Amino acid sequence: SSLEDFLDQSIRTIPDYPKPGVQFRDITTLLGNARAFRRAIDELVHPYAGLKVDKVAGIEARGFILGGAMAHQLSSGFVPIRKKGKLPHETVRVAYSLEYGVDEMEMHRDAVKPGERVILVDDLIATGGTAEGAVKLLTQMGADIVAACFVIDLPELGGRKKLEALGVQVNTLIA
Ligand code: 5GP
Repeated sequence: SSLEDFLDQSIRTIPDYPKPGVQFRDITTLLGNARAFRRAIDELVHPYAGLKVDKVAGIEARGFILGGAMAHQLSSGFVPIRKKGKLPHETVRVAYSLEYGVDEMEMHRDAVKPGERVILVDDLIATGGTAEGAVKLLTQMGADIVAACFVIDLPELGGRKKLEALGVQVNTLIA
């Protein structure tokens, strides 16, 4: 679509970052473009217009920027999902797989109450390992995950299918 093309053209690709062979999709150029940022947020929240959404959960760090703007537009709260050791109160923690190795992420135990309706957001889904970790944290605290959304999907890496296999609805803007 022309909207997809417009957003795609606002994102920069950096060759060989953070290591040789990786084509890094750099959304700072989308964020710095007022029209592109607004359109991206409008499009991200569009599927949930009129639905009850208690919280938007954003994955550190780019999910914070998108999730904060989405939460404002949806009149919902915001929950940060962070790399381990960053959150000051009691947390729930999960290990998740990266391309090489594993890491851990955390959420405050009191960030989501059982039955609360939550939308998960990050900038990009590749293998889905990161988002799967976040889904586990939210599910463990009893959240009702309405959907997971991303600006960019790299479909050949299978992340969307991984989340859908967990019963999570996935919405993306650019594939
Ligand atoms: P996954 O766990 O799905 O394999 O990787 C997705 C995570 O890595 C997301 O948190 C995303 O921000 C980050 N990521 C991986 N590749 C890229 C990329 O090319 N561009 C950006 N902006 N983030 C990436």
